[in-house]
Amino acid sequence: MRTGFYPGSFDPVTNGHSDIIRRGATLVDKLVIGIGVHHGKKPLFSVDEKTVMLEAELRNIGKHINTKFEITTFDGLVVDAAKHHKAEFLLRGLRNSEDLAYEMQMSGMNGEMMPDVQTVFLPASPGVQHIASSLVRQIASMGGNVQPFVPGHVADMLKAKFAG
Ligand code: ADP
Repeated sequence: MRTGFYPGSFDPVTNGHSDIIRRGATLVDKLVIGIGVHHGKKPLFSVDEKTVMLEAELRNIGKHINTKFEITTFDGLVVDAAKHHKAEFLLRGLRNSEDLAYEMQMSGMNGEMMPDVQTVFLPASPGVQHIASSLVRQIASMGGNVQPFVPGHVADMLKAKFAG
């Protein structure tokens, strides 16, 4: 059984994340999505809220594919979390050359720490290449329309978050 691990902050989940999950799921039998918890860095959304967002996306994506999905959290090294879940593949998305430079370095160091896990990069689909969680947060905080960038249920959660 091929298992993939897709780590991220998902603060919030965007159409870019969904695209990577949808396409990455075709490569493996099981895809574990790891919500990274960084102590000292306060995210906009809690782990529970991010889990709700991911579950909604997986319900949708799961209709069209037999891949098993699991959502988990991790607060240490990605390689340790991948090993814990017996993943052979680490899935990452690439949007631009900045992502590439950073991800190449990460995959090199992760590869030395754990040679039996292969990093697999998926290029962002053209329609979502420009989407970043940080900009979505910024736009939502200023009352902008984030509908083009995130699933509808996430747009609602952003609206509620900044309404009060
Ligand atoms: P991290 O803090 O690990 O970068 P993110 O939630 O920002 O967490 O991103 C998680 C993964 O999803 C990364 O591999 C990132 O490149 C990928 N990703 C994020 N947004 C997009 C997008 N619009 N298109 C493709 N991949 C994306």
